[in-house]
Amino acid sequence: MIYRFGIEPNGPAIIISDVVLEKMFRYQQLRDSDLEAGGQLFARFEGQDTYILDATPPKPTDKRGRHSFRPNKWLQKLEIRAKRLCAQHFVGDWHTHPELIPSKSPIDRESIHACFRESRHQLKAFLMVIVGTEAFPNGIAVYLADNDNIKLLKQW
Ligand SMILES: [Zn+2]
Repeated sequence: MIYRFGIEPNGPAIIISDVVLEKMFRYQQLRDSDLEAGGQLFARFEGQDTYILDATPPKPTDKRGRHSFRPNKWLQKLEIRAKRLCAQHFVGDWHTHPELIPSKSPIDRESIHACFRESRHQLKAFLMVIVGTEAFPNGIAVYLADNDNIKLLKQW
């Protein structure tokens, strides 16, 4: 099963399979003690579409709080290099929120723009996926961001 996310029904789409969704949804913060989790998103490009091939899990050295997630940047860079050898391209990040319907925080907004600016890449935009505590599809927010704008994608 695959799901398409985009700005408009027939425009470019971000395609996420249920296998990849499960890799993120298994970290839903369903209990009061569950900490934020997150990782990186890797994809291949086909025509105008972006197929997400992997959502990597949190690492033991990430700094995880109930309302914060700070990944180990050095490990992230290594992961990006290793994935590139398997033709999987870094396209953005994902993380969880302890809220039913997830939405980006002011810090998320800052970090996605910074991530876009600081990375060496040829992408026109970066993905940010946030997983809340509701079941799919209400429990996911898929954003596309560049230096200035951030857009919430719809599932078509
Ligand atoms: Zn967040």
